[in-house]
Amino acid sequence: MGTGHGSRLAGIGGVVALLALGCGCDAGAAAEDADAPADTPADRGDAFDGAGEADVSDGAGDAETFDGAGDADVSDGTVDDGAEGADGASCAPTAANILGPYYLEGAPERWDLVEPATAGTRLTVTGVVRGPECVSIAGAVVDVWQADADGVYDNVGWTLRGWSRADAAGSWRLHTIVPGRYATGGTFRPAHIHVRVSAPGFLPLTTQLYFAGDPYNETDPYYVPSLALEPEAQADGSLAATFDFVLTAG
Ligand code: FE
Repeated sequence: MGTGHGSRLAGIGGVVALLALGCGCDAGAAAEDADAPADTPADRGDAFDGAGEADVSDGAGDAETFDGAGDADVSDGTVDDGAEGADGASCAPTAANILGPYYLEGAPERWDLVEPATAGTRLTVTGVVRGPECVSIAGAVVDVWQADADGVYDNVGWTLRGWSRADAAGSWRLHTIVPGRYATGGTFRPAHIHVRVSAPGFLPLTTQLYFAGDPYNETDPYYVPSLALEPEAQADGSLAATFDFVLTAG
């Protein structure tokens, strides 16, 4: 697993091309539910071994609010000069996003959602879970669910669903595929990955990760630029991206 070895421009181009082809036209898919986020699961499981790179992304610095999104405000000047690995980074809270209708309790503990039969472009996301003063949060729970490459959620089993725990340095990781889009309201939701992040002493975060360059981003009512991944193409044909979550003290 690695990050940052490919050309960013090539990566974005690859994602755009991929997304342009990845229109999963599930006309029966329901619209996202704009209900406010609920509580996240309690502490569960053990930390994973060999956490990946703890690169600090700059994705948290330019959030925009949107209607009904809750706490997507961004404040400047929250960088703690003692923050580890946050050199110059803004530790503004990660923008919240809707829970949607497809969250299921009880997903298995796993950071690798790819199974042998899973179709789609492999994607690795790594980053750090931090608090408002940029200090990493050991053991934070990161719960993920998403559609498959055709834009379909598994609402019966646990396909492309799982949770894992950040390691002692706050590093989290995810191995999955680029989700397909699905139809809603006469258009398509852009590709997105649902995430809930929780840790004792912090407010639970419900959000979604998007993909820079998706042509449906700008017309989506829930898209927030600061939540967009910028995957880079890897030598093996997969994509890799980084994303840091910043929780608000509870
Ligand atoms: Fe969704």
